[in-house]
Amino acid sequence: MKITEKFKNKKPVISFEIFPPKKDDALKNVDQTLEILSSLNPDYISVTFGAGGSANKNKTIELARRIKEVYHIEPMIHLTSLHYDEEEIHHFTKTLEEHGLYNILALRGDKSDLVPEKDRYHYASDLIEDLKKDDRFCVAGACYPESHPESEDRIKDLHNLKRKVDAGAEFLISQMFFDNLMYYDFVEATRIAGINVPIAAGIMPVINKRQIERMVSLCGATLPEKFRHMLTKFEHNKEALFDVGMAYATSQIVDLLVNDVDGIHLYTMNNPVVAERITNAIKNVIV
Ligand code: FAD
Repeated sequence: MKITEKFKNKKPVISFEIFPPKKDDALKNVDQTLEILSSLNPDYISVTFGAGGSANKNKTIELARRIKEVYHIEPMIHLTSLHYDEEEIHHFTKTLEEHGLYNILALRGDKSDLVPEKDRYHYASDLIEDLKKDDRFCVAGACYPESHPESEDRIKDLHNLKRKVDAGAEFLISQMFFDNLMYYDFVEATRIAGINVPIAAGIMPVINKRQIERMVSLCGATLPEKFRHMLTKFEHNKEALFDVGMAYATSQIVDLLVNDVDGIHLYTMNNPVVAERITNAIKNVIV
């Protein structure tokens, strides 16, 4: 099923994000995670994509197939394009079709000194335009409530986001954020800019102070002072930090649900306990 149909028929659309494990033999360990994630009945599960190299592509497809065939949940494939030419992308999408995988989160991907860029897909919108030449795939795009880190300013970033939607992105998934007001401001600005597709809110439950500080420095999300204080207070108490991280993410989600968010996209970090705790905490709030 194309995920865009879910956004037409349901609000909020609930999704989880997982990544393929680095070691080949660890793919079976993801089963433990998928057992629990699928029992929570999300609308879809997305699988990330490591830029560069065919082994990465294959792992993403293999995991997405398991989600669909074994767990009967709709998967969405992340696909980065900066390091591939048209032939490679078309070969990849042909394989997706052969496996009945029709939902793609189309991305540019991060620039890297290690992997050479190809001269075909400079931005996600180039990939989206290519994928949407016909109607085989449902295509989503990424968006950044606090602007993309490379962006010169917010207005230019919004113009570029509009290009992505005009190219055919049917819904958007946001980068993680920790201050809901930033998300609400962003959604309002997108609507003023004429971007009218659903925008799912990306929520990252924090369970490790060092890990989140590294991620935040990479993606540019702001950690509110109140939350930073909580993390500092409990940084050496693993159990307390876990509870604090769950409580903070849950309160963000409840607030988003109260404000009629289109979707919640949970960055699970392959930790099923996180998804289970949060889903159980909000099950009566999703009405
Ligand atoms: P784009 O939309 O192309 O934007 C990149 C930059 O270029 C922005 O600053 C934008 O303003 C600018 N820009 C866009 N179009 C134009 C234009 N026409 N002219 C000038 N400037 C322009 N990375 C992975 O490697 N694997 C993953 O699985 C993955 N999953 C992700 C999932 C989500 C929900 C999100 C939010 C990000 C994910 N990323 C992933 C990270 C993503 O690849 C990076 O953030 C990357 O730097 C940008 O990708 P994009 O598709 O948003 O790029």
